[in-house]
Amino acid sequence: MKFMHEPDCIFCEIVAGKRSADIVYQDPEIVAFKDAKPAAPIHILIVPRKHIATLNDISPDDNILAAVGRAAQKIALDCGVAQKGYRLFINVNKGGGQVVFHLHVHLISKAID
Ligand code: AMP
Ligand code: ZN
Repeated sequence: MKFMHEPDCIFCEIVAGKRSADIVYQDPEIVAFKDAKPAAPIHILIVPRKHIATLNDISPDDNILAAVGRAAQKIALDCGVAQKGYRLFINVNKGGGQVVFHLHVHLISKAID
């Protein structure tokens, strides 16, 4: 197994294929899937395969957020919202609303025709 998985981490389980998810994008560093409780018509979670608990835990030499940004560009194009517009955000720790402690970026867009 290329990536270390944290026991009892639901996003590690999705990355490992042990829990189902509606996956919309994958590359060697990233898995992205639909949020189970979408807050908008398009709500995708962009998740590094590697278990990193929070944004605070990214190593100084880790370029994972660049990989997330590249994935977001592709997902936005695929979902047809690249030009219409979308929002990316990261919740950090409980005070920031983080519930799942495996780093993820929310990609949200209203459906505007
Ligand atoms: P956060 O508050 O940033 O930690 O966001 C966690 C998000 O993960 C929430 O929007 C949940 O709806 C979503 N979520 C939790 N479990 C799952 C799952 N098994 N599949 C898809 N989305 C999930
Ligand atoms: Zn994890």
